[in-house]
Amino acid sequence: MKQLLKTGMFQMARWSGLMPSIRRIFAGRAVILMFHEIQQDCRSELMTGTSAAFFEHSLNWLRQEGWEIVSLDACLERLATDPRPSRYAVLTFDDGYRDNVAAALPILERNNAPFMIYVPTGAPTRTLQSWWLGLREIFRSRDTVTIDAMGIRFRCPDFDNKISALSKVTQWIHQDYHRAAMLAPTFNKAGVSLSALNAAYFLDERELQALAQHSLASIGGHTASHAALASLDVLSALAEMTDNRNYLEKLLQRPVRHLAYPYGDSRACGPREEHLAKDAGFSTAVTTRHRHLCDRKLNYFALPRIGVGGQFETRIAFEARMSGVQSAVHMLGHT
Ligand SMILES: [Zn+2]
Repeated sequence: MKQLLKTGMFQMARWSGLMPSIRRIFAGRAVILMFHEIQQDCRSELMTGTSAAFFEHSLNWLRQEGWEIVSLDACLERLATDPRPSRYAVLTFDDGYRDNVAAALPILERNNAPFMIYVPTGAPTRTLQSWWLGLREIFRSRDTVTIDAMGIRFRCPDFDNKISALSKVTQWIHQDYHRAAMLAPTFNKAGVSLSALNAAYFLDERELQALAQHSLASIGGHTASHAALASLDVLSALAEMTDNRNYLEKLLQRPVRHLAYPYGDSRACGPREEHLAKDAGFSTAVTTRHRHLCDRKLNYFALPRIGVGGQFETRIAFEARMSGVQSAVHMLGHT
């Protein structure tokens, strides 16, 4: 509903010729975009990622609209030092999916676009409790799914039922990240191996080493186990960050200075995690709070990002998010 309202306001603003004013007042000077999987066939992955075609469209649109795609370091430096009203976009990918290289890299190379990939240790080591991949696998391959921990039996014989059931269970986890561990018996019973899914979907150590050599790529940390840091005690939360940073620096033989908090919302990270990220030796950390970046009041350990992809993504919704119309709606008290 909120999305409809924002998209509606965006359409109205476009028709009324107000867009240049809205952009001037509400859009920031920079955005950090967040992607996950870049898929060739989104339907077979139950609309959980961004299609390669949409990814390419978004890069073309950014260029046409005058957004310069730069690395995170370059973006922060220019916001701090460049007085010109240029606009910058930073491309980030979470989790280290194999399709970021197979599907996105050729598009990034064609656009000469720098990018950041945030990698949790458990992805290349195949130990990640990637419950989101396990759930997708179960809903994709079965017409009836029982999630014991929720006490619910989903009937999902067709595509729409599968998407809606997957979305319900995912939301249930996001309400309390401790619940992720409660899915293990469901995966066991269904014969779903998370380590096999990790091997199928995430880059391995050798592929990450090769990617780190690429002139457009930066690799950032994403914790050891992809835990919601705020749900851990302070020493465990710090160890999640330092262990991951040490692992990546040893593997890639280069400094790892940037972090993405897993999940990145207010349930997963807050002021305590911002201090811990600094203590762990990172220079910046990104969240999933949906905002543009302005040059004033920038907190380098809670940088906002705008997510792209998922089942509700459309060109018009993307343009609305990039235009700052969401900020306008927010300031008018509608969210
Ligand atoms: Zn993640």
